[in-house]
Amino acid sequence: MPVDVLAVAAHPDDIELACAGTLLRLKASGRRFGIVDLTRGEMGTRGTPESRAAEAGKAAEVLGAEFRENLGLTDGGLERNRESELALIALIRREKPRIVLTSYPDDRHPDHRRAGELVTDAAFYAGLRKIETAHAAHRPQQILYFSTATMQPPTFVVDVTPFMEKRREAIRAFSSQFHDPSSAEPETVLSQKTFLEMVEARARHFGFLIGVEFGEGFVSKRPPRVDDPIAAFEGLEPGF
Ligand SMILES: [Zn+2]
Repeated sequence: MPVDVLAVAAHPDDIELACAGTLLRLKASGRRFGIVDLTRGEMGTRGTPESRAAEAGKAAEVLGAEFRENLGLTDGGLERNRESELALIALIRREKPRIVLTSYPDDRHPDHRRAGELVTDAAFYAGLRKIETAHAAHRPQQILYFSTATMQPPTFVVDVTPFMEKRREAIRAFSSQFHDPSSAEPETVLSQKTFLEMVEARARHFGFLIGVEFGEGFVSKRPPRVDDPIAAFEGLEPGF
C-alpha cells in the first residue's frame, strides 16, 4: 500500500525538528507516511549510531510512521552519487509517495544541503521508465522543503498547534542529542537548553504568520492551489 508522504533527511532527528507536527497532522487525518534517514548520524558528537537508531525507532513510533528506514550513507560527507540516487529511486518507486518532504537545498550543514539536492534529483529520476529497478517508475507530485539552520520564507505554513505535545515527545526521543544535565558527553549547540527553546520559538513564529499558536513552514517551487482565499486567511491579525 503506497504512502501519501515520504519524509527524507540526512540525520536521524532532522525530520522531527522540522516537520514532526505536520506528520502528526497528516496521520490524524488518515494519511500514511514513511521516514527515511540517509545516514546513521555517525559523525554526531553525542550518541552512537546504535543509540541514535533506537531513538529514531522510538520517535517513529510516537509519530505513527508506517516505516522508518536508514540508507546508511556517509554522515559528514553525504555524497550525491549514482549509487545514492539509485537507492533513493528504488525507495520512492517502492513506496509511491505523492509528496516528499526534505531539507531545503541551502543550509549551514552541507549534509542538509546535499540531502535536499539528492532527494530532489532522485524524485525526478524515479519517474524515468528507462532507469530499471525492482518497481515501476513513479514521480512524486511535489517536493516540500523545510528549513533547518538557514531560514527560508515559507510558501505556506501548516497549523500544528494541536500536535505540539506529541511533537515535543517525538523530539525528546532523541535524548542523546538534546539537553540532559545528567549526560557526561561533550556539549554541542543542540545539547544546550536554549536549542530546544529556539526550535519551539521557530514553531511559534511560523504560527504567528498564520494566526495560530504553532506552525511549520514549507517552501515549494510551485504554490499550492487554494480553493477558498477567504478561509485561507481567516483568523489572521488583519493587516497586509
Ligand atoms: Zn541534521
